[in-house]
Amino acid sequence: MRKKEQPLLVDRFQRRLSYLRVSVTDRCNLRCRYCMPPGGVPKLAHPDILAYEEIRRVIQAASSLGMNKIRLTGGEPLVRKGMVDFIRQLAELPAPLDVRMTTNGLLLADKARDLAAAGLRRVNISLDSLDSRTYEYITGLDVLPQVWRGIQTALDAGFDRIKLNCVAMKGVNDHELERFAQLSREYPLEVRFIEFMPMGQVDFWSRDRFLSAEEIQRRIEGLDRLEAVPREGDEGPARVFRLPGALGTLGFISPVSNHFCGACNRLRLTAEGKIRVCLLSDREVDIKDALRAGAGPEELAGLLRRAAAAKPQNHLLRQAETPRRAMHSIGG
Ligand code: SAM
Ligand code: SF4
Repeated sequence: MRKKEQPLLVDRFQRRLSYLRVSVTDRCNLRCRYCMPPGGVPKLAHPDILAYEEIRRVIQAASSLGMNKIRLTGGEPLVRKGMVDFIRQLAELPAPLDVRMTTNGLLLADKARDLAAAGLRRVNISLDSLDSRTYEYITGLDVLPQVWRGIQTALDAGFDRIKLNCVAMKGVNDHELERFAQLSREYPLEVRFIEFMPMGQVDFWSRDRFLSAEEIQRRIEGLDRLEAVPREGDEGPARVFRLPGALGTLGFISPVSNHFCGACNRLRLTAEGKIRVCLLSDREVDIKDALRAGAGPEELAGLLRRAAAAKPQNHLLRQAETPRRAMHSIGG
């Protein structure tokens, strides 16, 4: 008998969607200037955010459509209680999932080993400065040593891969770009430079602070020759290089200056249960009401299909449209 083929999620532009990014909370233990509005944000009440059981049902429906890469993000995912157990539950689902997380690293020194043991495979850690004062200026807290301990613990914890994400901002942390690049010589990390994006009601965004990935790369090329690293399959939007003899690699990500929408394979689930069809567009499909009305896997898969069908071909930043949601409520 022929094996039943798994239905795949393909959008109107023939992009196959295989990657679901899940914001598990809107809360955060940092206050990054480029991510949170200056006056802070009203907190969602507990019943407004999806329960783990509801998130798991969405992930199972997504997995039935061939979405097997799951990234847990936030706010800060590690401030939500029960995260290690939730990852263990995901790892025990019958269909194998590749579960990843994006974190600011502040709680990693305590949790990295348990997360790896529970089945988390990859971690992206956000770090925008190696200087305590600049770190505090950007994030609002003087906790760089604690984050650095988290990175060291993660390096020893047995993850398949660890990336450091650095949002490059002119006049804020651009004097540190070369120092960041040098980290990749010493540690088996992918150090990734990301363009600053205008998001939500965040006053900190300004054209003057924007640095294109091309400019960042030119600066790093001043250090040494960059060897291109071949990518496997749908590895994401970074262009990846290696400094000669380095243990790690360098990635350059250009969401603003250079569309990579043609290769987009993502949907996003917000903490309050909206499927966001593109990071940089405010089109969303509600899934919370269906979850709370007891929707089964077929109905949830139908909503994911509806979201896929609503994906725009390209994002609209070039037309100077800024998404309404700030990044802390989407998860990056
Ligand atoms: N709290 C976690 C963290 O910081 O890694 C996860 C959520 S955070 C919203 C995800 C990523 O979005 C971080 O790497 C952060 O640097 C990035 N980010 C937030 N606002 C941004 C912006 N305006 N432009 C570029 N990246 C941004
Ligand atoms: Fe929090 Fe991450 Fe946003 Fe910083 S970037 S405020 S750590 S959600």
